[in-house]
Amino acid sequence: MEFIDLKKQYKVLYNEINKRVCEVLSNANYILGAEVAQLEKELAEYVGVRHCVTCANGTDALTLALKVLNIGTGDAVFVPSFTFFASAETIAMLGATPVFTDVREDTFNICVESLETEIKSVIKEGTIRPKAIMAVDLFGQCADYSKLEAIAKKYGLLIIEDGAQGFGGSINGKMACSFGDIATTSFFPAKPLGCYGDGGAVFTNNDRYADTLKSLRFHGKGSDKYDNIRLGYNSRLDTVQAAILLVKLKAFKDYELTQRNILAENYTRELKSKLNVPIVPEGFVSSWAQYTVKIDARDEFLQYLRDKGVPSMVYYPKGLHKQTALSEFPSHAARLPVTDKLCKTVLSLPMHPYMDEQDFRAC
Ligand SMILES: *Cc1c(COP(=O)(O)O)cnc(C)c1O
Repeated sequence: MEFIDLKKQYKVLYNEINKRVCEVLSNANYILGAEVAQLEKELAEYVGVRHCVTCANGTDALTLALKVLNIGTGDAVFVPSFTFFASAETIAMLGATPVFTDVREDTFNICVESLETEIKSVIKEGTIRPKAIMAVDLFGQCADYSKLEAIAKKYGLLIIEDGAQGFGGSINGKMACSFGDIATTSFFPAKPLGCYGDGGAVFTNNDRYADTLKSLRFHGKGSDKYDNIRLGYNSRLDTVQAAILLVKLKAFKDYELTQRNILAENYTRELKSKLNVPIVPEGFVSSWAQYTVKIDARDEFLQYLRDKGVPSMVYYPKGLHKQTALSEFPSHAARLPVTDKLCKTVLSLPMHPYMDEQDFRAC
C-alpha cells in the first residue's frame, strides 16, 4: 500500500497524459508554451479569480506573492508555527520577520486569538511594522478567512493565503486560493493537485499584481524580454508540467476531489470511536491533502501501523518556532502550546483518490 499512490493515478490517466506530453515535445515550446496559458485560464476559472500566474514551485509562489506586496526588511508577517517550513522561510528570505502564532487544535489552522495577541505584542514592542498575515490552509482545509479578514481590517494588514495544501477546498462555495489579497498553491507531486516535478501558482483579482507577477517570474522583464525593469527570478512552470496538469485538473474536478472526500468520510466513520478524527466545520469542504488524526500514544500506534504494513507520516514533528534555521526570530514559545502538543500527537494516514476497498480494509 502507498501513502499517496501516484503510480495508480498514472495508470488511469496514462493515455491522455502521454498524448499531451508528446504534443509538447513535438511542438518544442518548452517554456511558457500554449499549455501554460491554457492551464492558467482553467485554474483561474476553477478558483474563481481574475488571474492565475504559474511559477516553478509553491515556495517561489510565496516569494513572488510577498514581493508583489512589497514585503521586506522591517515588516512583520504573522504565520502559524504549525505548517511546512516554506511558509516562514520565504518571509525570512526576503528580510522580513516571521512572527509565529499558534493554531487551533480542532482545525490545525491559525488561531485568531493567538494572532491578535501576537499583533498587539509587535505593536507594543515597536521595532517592526505589522504588515501581513500568511494564513495556511493546512491538510486541505481553508483557514477561517471571515475571522482573519476582520482582524486584517482592524490592524490594516494584508492577507496572503498559502493554499499549497488547500487547492480544491472551499468555504460556502468560495474556493481555496481565492482568499486574501493574494493566494498561492503548489503542484508538488504529493499535493492535492500535483504535477510530475515541481510547480506552483499565484492567484489574484488585482490586475496590477498579475502584471508584476508575470514580470517577476521572468527576470523582471518589461514589455520585451530583453528590457528588464526590475530584478526578478527565473521561476516559470514548464510547458510539459502544464500539459500534465491540464489532464490532472480535469480528473481532479471530475472525480478525484469527490473520491478524496469519500475516503475521508469512510475513515471518520470507522475511526471516530477509537481515535481523535479531523473535523470539518459547517460550510467548509476539505481537499484532504492529509487525513490527520490525533493520538496521545502515537509511538505505539505508529508501530501497530508499521506491523500491519500501513504507511503513515507525521506532519509536523517540530513547530517552526523550534527550527534551527529560524532561531534568530525570537518567538513567545510559551504562547504556542497547541503547536507543541500537535507535534507530539498528530499522525497522517494514507490519502489518495485511487484507494480501493481492499487497501481501505487493510487500514
Ligand atoms: C508544500 C508546501 C509549500 C511549498 O511548496 P513547494 O512546491 O514544495 O515549494 C508551501 N507551503 C505549504 C503549507 C506547503 O505544504
